[in-house]
Amino acid sequence: MDRQRLTDDLCQLPIEELVAVLQGVFAARQPAPEEASYCRNRFFLGTAWSYRTSDDGQPEKWEPWSTDLVAYPDSSSWGDSLGPDWGLCQEGTCGSCGNVVRSNVKQGLCPLCQTPVFMT
Ligand SMILES: [Zn+2]
Repeated sequence: MDRQRLTDDLCQLPIEELVAVLQGVFAARQPAPEEASYCRNRFFLGTAWSYRTSDDGQPEKWEPWSTDLVAYPDSSSWGDSLGPDWGLCQEGTCGSCGNVVRSNVKQGLCPLCQTPVFMT
């Protein structure tokens, strides 16, 4: 395997295709499969955001980081479609686990608990 080529190829994908590829990887891999009988564990894709609080020309100051989970398109709404190439502009909160999720579609599935989430 050529790791650099794989990295380069992944970097070329539109966001919705990158999410779909990683969804497939994360469905097949887990961080600690040997603990699965007593500990649920999984990989997920996330984003981190921090807004600048200082003005231009001033020393840079930033808010603390906040994180969101990247939701998968809900196949009951989207079928096999990956959805539009809009970036991860939709945001919502999972009604089951309470995590904030992002997606390129409004009808997604929480990547942790698989609960449908409507985003705006
Ligand atoms: Zn959830």
